[in-house]
Amino acid sequence: MRMTKNESSLIRDIIERVESSERVLLSSHQGPDGDSLGSQISFYLYLKSLGKQVWMYNQGHIPHYFHDFKEIDLVKCEPEDWIVPEQGFDLAVIFECTSIDRIGEVKDIVAPKTDIINIDHHRENSEFGLINYIDVDASSVGEMNYRIFKQAGLEISREIAEYIFIAILTDTGRFHFTSTTPESLRVAAELIEQGIDIKALTDRIYFSNSEAQLRLTGELLASMDVVLGGRACLLTLTRSDLERYGLKYGDMEGMVEWTMKVKGAMVGALLKDLRPDFTKISLRSQRDIDVHKLAQKFDGGGHLNAAGCHIHAPLPEAKEKLISAIGELIEDVD
Ligand code: 5GP
Repeated sequence: MRMTKNESSLIRDIIERVESSERVLLSSHQGPDGDSLGSQISFYLYLKSLGKQVWMYNQGHIPHYFHDFKEIDLVKCEPEDWIVPEQGFDLAVIFECTSIDRIGEVKDIVAPKTDIINIDHHRENSEFGLINYIDVDASSVGEMNYRIFKQAGLEISREIAEYIFIAILTDTGRFHFTSTTPESLRVAAELIEQGIDIKALTDRIYFSNSEAQLRLTGELLASMDVVLGGRACLLTLTRSDLERYGLKYGDMEGMVEWTMKVKGAMVGALLKDLRPDFTKISLRSQRDIDVHKLAQKFDGGGHLNAAGCHIHAPLPEAKEKLISAIGELIEDVD
């Protein structure tokens, strides 16, 4: 835990600042995932219960498994939908971002004087907010939100419980990553006591792929690169792959996890050609192999075993650079 103040007084500051606000912008990192959106939407529901005006703006694609959730249409991902109220926002709450740059172009509509509450669990968080609630030991930001809601005395509705559960479920890889802690399991248990249906939720997220998604998954797996003596596995996803199947990047969320299913692979990567000269990379690793350190070499960040970065180069060139950096990272590992 990295906190300059005692946790409950920090949460009290958040609650007070939220209660005194009127027009609140919520955002999270580009290419939002289960934790960033689960946190953001659960916070939206908290603010609405207080009668606040709230806007949710994000850059990137919503993961496919969110499409059937009621509040997801309120998350606007097209810049032309990012309307700023006449009096401006008087508060912005940013989830799961190490720096304000991680919200991408949404940053351009946050006025320099807007107060920011920064809620995150990444160790390299730059504390860019007026209030910075950072807990590097939390499984997810959803788990941190839950603490805020409890301290605020919020009645946890079924919807809020579902979004928090999704945040924890996805950021712990279905309670499988080392970020799964007694605390995250305790919160999940309390959410189940609220009456959420974990089978139905887990099915919606992990077992509801379209035929096109599964066929493309098959293709990508058939062409995976197992390199460095079987110790690294790389997958590539290109815009033309997606076009052939009528899919978007968000439809292939979670693809990187396949790389860790290869026995012997210590590092896994998924490379995406977001632009012709810009390759986005998701990284995964086993044991104490620090892909966060690897990501930092390429303007990225994340956690010990799950991180992300980008290389300003076409995908084949980025792949070469990445393989050589992975080789350096694992050269002394048995
Ligand atoms: P994923 O591969 O699932 O997109 O991301 C894994 C982890 O790395 C997440 O914690 C995510 O926030 C972080 N991450 C992914 N891409 C970037 C990036 O470009 N910069 C930073 N700082 N973190 C990233």
